[in-house]
Amino acid sequence: MTLPSTADFLVIGGGVVGLTTALALRGRHPDASVVVLEKEDHCGAHASGRNSGVLHAGFYYSADSLKARFSRDGCARWKAWCEERDLPVNACGKLVVARTEDDFPQMDELLRRAERNGVDLEEVSEADAHEIDPRAHTVERALWSPSTASVDPQAIMTALAQEAREAGIAVATGTAYRGVHGGSGPHRVGTSAGLVSAGFVVNAAGLHADRVARDFGFAEHYRILPFKGLYLYGDVPADWMRVHIYPVPDLEVPFLGVHFTVTVEGAISIGPTALPALWREQYGGLGGFSAKELAEVTARGAAMVLRDRGFRRLAIREGPKLLRSVLARRAAALVHDLDVSKWRRWGRPGIRAQLQDARSGALVTDFVTQGDPRSLHVLNAVSPAFTCALPFAEYLAEEVDDLVE
Ligand SMILES: Cc1cc2nc3c(=O)[nH]c(=O)nc-3n(C[C@H](O)[C@H](O)[C@H](O)COP(=O)(O)OP(=O)(O)OC[C@H]3O[C@@H](n4cnc5c(N)ncnc54)[C@H](O)[C@@H]3O)c2cc1C
Repeated sequence: MTLPSTADFLVIGGGVVGLTTALALRGRHPDASVVVLEKEDHCGAHASGRNSGVLHAGFYYSADSLKARFSRDGCARWKAWCEERDLPVNACGKLVVARTEDDFPQMDELLRRAERNGVDLEEVSEADAHEIDPRAHTVERALWSPSTASVDPQAIMTALAQEAREAGIAVATGTAYRGVHGGSGPHRVGTSAGLVSAGFVVNAAGLHADRVARDFGFAEHYRILPFKGLYLYGDVPADWMRVHIYPVPDLEVPFLGVHFTVTVEGAISIGPTALPALWREQYGGLGGFSAKELAEVTARGAAMVLRDRGFRRLAIREGPKLLRSVLARRAAALVHDLDVSKWRRWGRPGIRAQLQDARSGALVTDFVTQGDPRSLHVLNAVSPAFTCALPFAEYLAEEVDDLVE
């Protein structure tokens, strides 16, 4: 495909946020030209195609957050979207189990959040939990989320990219954003395939969104810290577990804790970990190595270990999970009869583009947007941004219109 030299809307990043936003802009402006730049040779090469594929029901997030606002509807809309396109959905549901009585106050908080967010979450007894999934191990009580489901994220990304093209959007894969030239009038955006003159730029560059935003004068106080999610697969039959089984999370950190996911095909994984990655695209070996990022990420990680109690707890908890046996043993607390020796196969890792506020050192929990009449920057599109993507994209397209006015 030849890259168009002009675009009314130029979206940087062909992940789920970029593609759904491009489609939402197209829906609002049928005569406008929309171009998506994606540096990889296909859409979904990063977080959008490398996540757990869980459609979250929306009970983890405080009611005032964007995450709470979009999860419930996002979950329902992806299910319908997949059904319409014959893409698989595993509507298995999720149990949140208690490891000790100390989990009870956080469980009560999750029930309160579910009620405020209008999400179906039931308290069930230990016996009911056993009925739902005999594998689940809980202390006295558990939470049952019937609407949690799983999908195939890469299949969705492939279908989305095709739909975007059919809607007349130029999806330029293998084309990287390289920088922006200032001045009044349309932005002159440099790419690996030449300049594009763009009326409005949407930055949905995931792990690189903070850097792109800084080119436009935004994200001054924000930095992305990459966190790696590793998955462990077991040599167990497909019916070993019926539903997702999660621990009660530590609501002070933006990760849900190691859990069991039942994939759309019925395979079972333990994970993901939340280990700081050494550079933004450190999936394995030295791929994507950047000495500058290594130095930067190590320095910021070390400073946070010293400064932030929550981060220190996270580092102490996550570090040992690099060992397969430690990860499996931690997960074993959630179920009956897990044979650690059977869990030996690492799956495909993903990396979270977690935003850090450089002033306080805190990890930001909600999605963040910044913009002006010529650009909008999506920062911190972390989990459950996949679940939220369809209604979140409509919100972003509306924000673009508000900024342009
Ligand atoms: C391990 C893990 C598990 C997760 N589990 C879940 C889950 O179960 N449910 C859920 O809802 N969410 C989950 N998430 C979160 C979810 O995957 C992300 O929130 C979502 O995919 C973010 O989408 P995105 O489009 O912002 O980012 P990405 O998918 O990373 O897309 C950004 C795109 O921008 C491109 N790009 C970057 N720089 C440039 C450039 N210079 N030029 C051109 N293109 C560029 C990248 O190549 C990339 O394709 C998980 C994430 C991870 C990492």
